Amino acid sequence: MFDGNELVDTASEAIVSHDQHPEKARILIADDSATIRATLSKAVNDEFVSVGASDGEQAWNLLEEDVSIELVVTDLAMPGLDGFGLIRRMRSSDSSRIRNTPVIVVTGANDTAARERAFIEGANDFIAKTSDHVEFLARVRAHQKLAQTIRELESSRRFLKEQANTDPLTKLANRRNFFTVVSAVLAQMHRQNEHFSVVMLDIDHFKRINDTYGHQAGDFVLVELAQVLSSAIREGDLLARMGGEEFVVASPYTNRLAAIVLSERLRKSVEDKKFVFEGNQIPVTVSLGVASKTNGTDDIDKLIAIADARLYMAKEKGRNRICASDKSRNGRITESVVVCPKVDEALTMIKHGNTFRLLPHLHELAEQLLPLFELINEQDVDQPFDIDEIRKTIEALESLDE
Ligand code: GH3
Ligand code: MG
Ligand code: MG
Repeated sequence: MFDGNELVDTASEAIVSHDQHPEKARILIADDSATIRATLSKAVNDEFVSVGASDGEQAWNLLEEDVSIELVVTDLAMPGLDGFGLIRRMRSSDSSRIRNTPVIVVTGANDTAARERAFIEGANDFIAKTSDHVEFLARVRAHQKLAQTIRELESSRRFLKEQANTDPLTKLANRRNFFTVVSAVLAQMHRQNEHFSVVMLDIDHFKRINDTYGHQAGDFVLVELAQVLSSAIREGDLLARMGGEEFVVASPYTNRLAAIVLSERLRKSVEDKKFVFEGNQIPVTVSLGVASKTNGTDDIDKLIAIADARLYMAKEKGRNRICASDKSRNGRITESVVVCPKVDEALTMIKHGNTFRLLPHLHELAEQLLPLFELINEQDVDQPFDIDEIRKTIEALESLDE
C-alpha cells in the first residue's frame, strides 16, 4: 500500500486539532515521504487522528509539545535525525510519557538487519512497507490499546498508593504515611545535627461538638481545621491526621522555641477562624503539646510520646493552650509563656507582631542587650547612652514581672 503513487498535497496535511476528535487517540507518523504519510494516515483515520512529521527532529519536537500523542509510527531512513536516532532519543527521554510511547517501525520486507537494530534501540513492532492497510491498522490498534491499559494500571496503582497514605476525610497524610516520611526526615536531621520538632494537637471537647451540632458538623470542623492548619504551617512542615480529632505537625530545622512560636500560630489561627455549619457558628479551640529532638530522643515514637504527654497536660491545665518543656527549669514541663526567647527570636516575634509572649521576659531580654550599649559607648560616640539610666529602666522592668 505504500507505493507512493498517490499524489498528496502536503499543505493539506496540517496538524489536525485534537479538539475536533476528542474521542480518537492521536498517533504520530514520521516519514520523509509525504505520500507515505498520507497513505498511512488514510489507513487509520477512521479510528485515529494522525499528526505528520517529515523527519526525526520534527517528530521529536511534536512529541515534546503534544502530550496527547499515544503512539509513533516511523520510517528508518530520514534526513537529519533518522528513525533509529528518534527511538534512541525517546527511550532515553526524561519524560516517562515519551519513554513509554510505543513505536512501530516501517521497514522493507527483508530488512532483517535494520529490524534488529531498531529492536535494540527500543522499537515495539515492525511492519513491512508491503503490508496492507488492514494489517497496519490492526497493529496500531493493538499497540495503542496495550499502552493505554498500561497507563490505566499505573494510574490505579498510584491511586491505591495515594489512598493508603491519605486520610479520606481531610485529604491530609494519614498516620501511616506520617511515620514513614517523618522517620526518614528525622534520621536526616540527626545526621546533619539539625533541630527538629513535633507538635501534637487535639480539638477541645470535640465530643460536645458532635453531640450539639451532629456528626456531620463534626466532620465539617475536621475538614476546615485541616485547611486552617495547612495554611499556618511552613512549606517544609508535614501535617497529618493521626486519627479522630488529633493532628500532628512535624517541623524540620525547628528548635524548641521556634516550635512554640509555630504552635501559638496554630492555636491562634484555630481560635480566630469562624467555623460556620448550616448557619451555626461552632466555637473550636485546640490544645497542643510540643516535643523537640535532643540527643536522648532520637526516634519519632519517643518524640510523639513526649508531645502526647504534653498535649494531655495542656488539656489538664484548661485546654486552648500549649505545653512545652522549659530547659532553664531542668526539663520541667511548663506552659510556653514561661520560656524566655533568645534575643534574635524576640526580634523576629516583634517583627511579626507576636509581642504578647515577650512581655514577661522584657527584663531578661533587655539585660542581655546591656553589653551592646556598653560596646557602643566605648566607640567614642558624640552622644553615648546613659548606661545608668538604662540599668534603672531594666530594674524597673524586673519589678514589673513580679
Ligand atoms: P478533649 O478536649 O479532652 O479532647 O475532649 P474530646 O471530647 O475532644 O475528646 P474525646 O476523646 O472524649 O472525644 C473525641 C470524639 O471525637 C469522640 C469521637 O466520636 C469523635 N470523632 C472521632 N473521629 C471522628 C470523625 O471522623 N468525625 C466526627 N464527626 N467525630 C469523630
Ligand atoms: Mg479532643
Ligand atoms: Mg482525642
